[in-house]
Amino acid sequence: MSENFLLRNYDRYPLTMESGSGCYLFDTHGRRYLDMIAGIGVNVFGHCHPRLTAALVEQAHRAVHSSNLVSNQYQSRLAERLCRISGLDRAFFCNSGTEAVEAALKAVRARSRPGKQKLVALHGSFHGRTMASLSVTGQSDLRQRFVYSGAEVAFVHPNDSDGLREAVSPDTAAVILEPVLGEGGIYPLHPEFLQLARKLSSAADAYLIVDEVQCGLGRTGKYFAYQWAGIRPDIAVVAKPLAGGLPLGAALFTEDAAQWLPPHSHGTTFGGGPLACRVALEVLDLLHETLPSVAGKAEEFLSRLESLRLRHPVIREIRSKGLMFGLQLDRPGLPYVYAALERRLLINCTQGSVLRLLPPFIVATEQMDECFSVLDEVFANGRLAPSSKADIMAVDEHAFAAATA
Ligand code: PLP
Repeated sequence: MSENFLLRNYDRYPLTMESGSGCYLFDTHGRRYLDMIAGIGVNVFGHCHPRLTAALVEQAHRAVHSSNLVSNQYQSRLAERLCRISGLDRAFFCNSGTEAVEAALKAVRARSRPGKQKLVALHGSFHGRTMASLSVTGQSDLRQRFVYSGAEVAFVHPNDSDGLREAVSPDTAAVILEPVLGEGGIYPLHPEFLQLARKLSSAADAYLIVDEVQCGLGRTGKYFAYQWAGIRPDIAVVAKPLAGGLPLGAALFTEDAAQWLPPHSHGTTFGGGPLACRVALEVLDLLHETLPSVAGKAEEFLSRLESLRLRHPVIREIRSKGLMFGLQLDRPGLPYVYAALERRLLINCTQGSVLRLLPPFIVATEQMDECFSVLDEVFANGRLAPSSKADIMAVDEHAFAAATA
């Protein structure tokens, strides 16, 4: 497929997907791929779940968009559901994770005063690609060249309690963290570290913002990953799985934090539209039914990964929380991603050497069997061609199709 008219900002796999069903995607050649990355944590109920499709189609016949000049019942109902499961008080809806983080940071900015504007974030974190979100993203290769100067951010290593104690001071306006760093390579924060972040933020009269865009809404086995630590943040943000693949993000505030975004201070044209919110309500219904099974699936998946690691020393370490898995390799991971793709398994690589798997919550033993037989082959055969970044980039879709036909 020609990409001549697209911005060259993505390093895409040489594949064009056409449709999906359950845990599988189908490309334009009709070949089936087992999807163990789930649209990077979005398609938690697989592709085209019949209940989500039905809600989407039904709502498309009623109203797709009505604007935030007026209320829509689905947005109000969704806000209530999210507040009840999160323990927070008010919701703002937008269209993506990064916008939800922006809303959180705008509330912090509105509250801050001279001498109390510093932010504390984590090295290796990822909070999005818009300007404020980027300024708290702890990956210098993403930040450099783009970030506006002026944002005073102290970065602390994940789970470095002493570093956190040192960084949080009366000047701190907010601490922002992901309970499980996703793009950063799957690093779960210890419950004690989250509790410390809560304690230090409260003592410094700073807000604690928890970014659950990737780890939230069931992925770790609880609605929110911060619930493992028994804490209540001032602001929590969610997005990816919220509307089953439709763009929808939410920032959830305590009543205290919500006061900083009064009428006319913030808004969006599309956010919280009736179509996305109607589907999100169905997602939450499904999640309510599915959540009890996540821990068991995660355990089964993890024990298979651990035995895979014992068979293949190239896997140095497995990091996980619930259904978030990072396989730390002792070498670059991209060739393994391509070797898996050649065997019709879709995963991804983050931070150069971490293979990331974010299986859908509906993954069953049958798909685990399939996934692990491919992974075994991939690791047993070592790095299969294409074996270098240059080779990989040279593979066009037709060559890839011929090679995998
Ligand atoms: N926060 C986290 C933890 C994420 O993983 C991501 C995306 O991967 C974002 C924020 C940004 O979300 P979006 O790409 O929807 O803007």
